[in-house]
Amino acid sequence: MSSLKLHQQRAQFSYSARVLVAFPVVCVCAIVAGCAAPQKTFTVERPVRHTVSTPHFVIQSDFQIPDDAPLVRELDQLRQQITETLALPGQRDPVVVYLFSDEESYRRYMHATWPNLPPRRAYFVGTSRELSIYSFHSARVREDLRHEFTHGLLHSSLNSVPLWLDEGLAEYFEVGGENVGTPHTSHVQYLQSARAEGWNPSLYHLEQLSDFRKMTQRDYAEAWGWVHFMLHNADSTRGTLIDYVAELESKSVAAALMPRLEKADPAYYNGMISHVTNMAQGIALASHRP
Ligand SMILES: [Zn+2]
Repeated sequence: MSSLKLHQQRAQFSYSARVLVAFPVVCVCAIVAGCAAPQKTFTVERPVRHTVSTPHFVIQSDFQIPDDAPLVRELDQLRQQITETLALPGQRDPVVVYLFSDEESYRRYMHATWPNLPPRRAYFVGTSRELSIYSFHSARVREDLRHEFTHGLLHSSLNSVPLWLDEGLAEYFEVGGENVGTPHTSHVQYLQSARAEGWNPSLYHLEQLSDFRKMTQRDYAEAWGWVHFMLHNADSTRGTLIDYVAELESKSVAAALMPRLEKADPAYYNGMISHVTNMAQGIALASHRP
């Protein structure tokens, strides 16, 4: 559903990962146990047998992927969508996607390389040497790669990306395929349930987050909600976000976004709540359509 990101020595090293929310507990246990006691005959290597190179990203895999495969075309289309939506500057570095053919090989590699990282379906790892994505072939690989590739593109174009915004944008671009901005159904429903239980959104709270391990499912849903609200509410809110992103190209420490949003739209708080409520009503209507 969502993703995580850890900042260690912020500029040099960062992680991001897909959460295994829907993964059965028994499978998680089996994976952890398997990683803790790898077979002696197993070699832990990155998948580098096959390579697809484009001007903006490289896919390395241990199974063949045609140059014109849907996955390759989708990532290139996504790159254009993100660049146009956020008016991103050019990439400084290509993003390298390491795609394993099976989950077990991926798990073993990740555990051997970063033993302290919790098991996730995909990771973005940014270092001063390379912006890398790790994942494996699965039914959800395209969604996972859309999410992680968003992180990769942001970090290859900007000097700093606040954690909440990094995740909010990745959640925003992971859905919809060609239709950027399609409501993230599970996030909308989660936020509506939270509202019914008395929860109130807080961009201030999100802007304080700096450790992905402390981000909750609600934080991911809310981060998505603020991004969707800003991009779709009005020219003023969209412009505020785009101007903010433009500043991140050169800033190593991001300023707070909330005061700017408040200035652009003094009714932003209720506006965000209404925005999500309207999406929830749209989803409910669509689900009741014969
Ligand atoms: Zn993420």
